[in-house]
Amino acid sequence: MITSIKELLISENYGKKINVKGWVRTKRESKNVAFIALNDGSTINNVQIVVNIDSTNEEKLAKIHTGASLSIDGELIKSEGKGQNIEINAENIEILGIANPDEYPLQPKKHSLEFLRENAHLRFRTNTFSAIFRIRHAMIFAIHSFFNEKGFYNVHTPIITASDAEGAGEMFRVSVLPAKNPPVNEQGNVDFTKDFFGKETNLTVSGQLEAELAALALSKVYTFGPTFRAENSNTTRHLAEFWMIEPEAAFYDINDDMDLAENMLKYCVKYALDNCFDDLQFLSNRLKEEEKGKPQDQQSQELIDKLNFVLNNDFERITYTEAIDILRNSNHNKKKKFQYIIDGWGADLQSEHERYLVEKHFKKPVILIDYPKEIKAFYMKQNEDGKTVRAMDILFPGIGEIVGGSQREENYAKLVARMNEMEIPTSEMSWYLDTRKFGTVPHSGFGLGFERLMLFITGMGNIRDVIPFPRTPKNAEF
Ligand code: ATP
Ligand code: MN
Repeated sequence: MITSIKELLISENYGKKINVKGWVRTKRESKNVAFIALNDGSTINNVQIVVNIDSTNEEKLAKIHTGASLSIDGELIKSEGKGQNIEINAENIEILGIANPDEYPLQPKKHSLEFLRENAHLRFRTNTFSAIFRIRHAMIFAIHSFFNEKGFYNVHTPIITASDAEGAGEMFRVSVLPAKNPPVNEQGNVDFTKDFFGKETNLTVSGQLEAELAALALSKVYTFGPTFRAENSNTTRHLAEFWMIEPEAAFYDINDDMDLAENMLKYCVKYALDNCFDDLQFLSNRLKEEEKGKPQDQQSQELIDKLNFVLNNDFERITYTEAIDILRNSNHNKKKKFQYIIDGWGADLQSEHERYLVEKHFKKPVILIDYPKEIKAFYMKQNEDGKTVRAMDILFPGIGEIVGGSQREENYAKLVARMNEMEIPTSEMSWYLDTRKFGTVPHSGFGLGFERLMLFITGMGNIRDVIPFPRTPKNAEF
């Protein structure tokens, strides 16, 4: 049995002979003893290995550097040192793998996030990234457990889809046709009937339409899968490949939908505080270090305070129209401090506006509802005013939009009329329209970008740092 360092650190079996395996974080030597901080990724904390220099092979000890992997037999003893309960008196050290310090890119010092992004194959080995990816696991687990507790069934929706009418973003084509001289039809276009699926196919931009099919039978479902958007937006909040959670629930109206989303986000925050405290504390300290030089008013709220604040306050719920009024009348707008000035009703909100509402005006998460139909998708339920749809976006501090959702148009005639207006071919969507033809019901759902949630929970500033191997324009390494 291999005991993890996480388990060892809470054990009180002093005097027990144990074996521990891991990677060297640091080594320091004094006259008679060497101290090795060993980490196996099970926790942010290292276990201290005490090595008697006189009784240890000198050559072997000299080969132990940051990054080397070791298997150590020794005795668990009570530690006199501060901040640790136990340490290990090494009796036998086996070097599993060396890490030559002249070649190993990671030194026992702080590296920049940019440097670590370029070395993403090794960044799991740093404190920062091991903390982030442990939290990522915890959040995946929390989401599944939230929906399971609420009686939602997980469904897998296809990754390769033939529907190009979803309109959520630019798509990546999936094809086996040769890139050079593909077959062409009489009109001179690429002949996709010769392609693998006999039609043009793409990577999915959303599992929603298929989730709706399931919700109209299982009532409450959710998807949690990879999502692909070929949008050429090089921002700190967009990935070309990201993970999305999309619940869809029959008989839910927009208010039920907002309650569900708010509860889910709070559940995740609470789960992180309850289960990832050491890692959050580490990330919080790291952020404090980073912000030390900044003037007081530009420093962000301490990470754990920020999480508690979101947990303990209701999200502000206002309409798009109210938001436009607030923005239009703001000093920020009057002094032309927005890149995009708000001068009328109907404009799509940019992330600078979303963040103004959240960070400057309300100082808490905001849910915006009833958006102009022109800037939202065809499937959203049309309001009586003829102008707006029952959409809801949740805006978070530091991020902007984290959730986008809506009540769906369940009326067949209204849905078809809207699709015609927007020139969405209904013939290719008959499978979707069948839900409205046979046993239609009011229903609602939303999409949560998993990495946006991760940005919020970890306090990291760049979405490339909360997914192990980011896919962004001109970047698909590793
Ligand atoms: P944005 O305006 O921020 O680009 P969107 O309106 O395109 O978002 P939706 O189509 O509503 O977003 O997708 C639902 C959720 O998926 C968003 O609220 C966001 O959390 C997430 N999301 C969307 N695009 C991306 C992306 N490229 N990378 C990471 N997450 C994304
Ligand atoms: Mn987008």
